[in-house]
Amino acid sequence: MDFNFEVDEVTIRREREKARALRKQGWWQNRIAKGVCHYCEKSFPPKELTLDHIVPLARGGRSTKGNCVPACKECNNRKKDLLPLEWEEYLQHLKDAIES
Ligand SMILES: [Zn+2]
Repeated sequence: MDFNFEVDEVTIRREREKARALRKQGWWQNRIAKGVCHYCEKSFPPKELTLDHIVPLARGGRSTKGNCVPACKECNNRKKDLLPLEWEEYLQHLKDAIES
């Protein structure tokens, strides 16, 4: 077993709790009030934005301000469904679409 990549249930539960608390804080309310998805940079009503961990908790990410970003439902679903490499490609595709 490789302990470096092992994230235990207790840690994940604790980080989820932290994320729930973060969602009630002013800085998060301000972030979603802007209504912009961190990934696709499109505008959404604040209530449609969810808190997403850039580095997922299961991969050792934490519920810190730097790791929590607003994401629209579409990006959130894609991130869940895609492998990390496919997700990178999706982000690159979004950037290309914005620049061209
Ligand atoms: Zn998005």
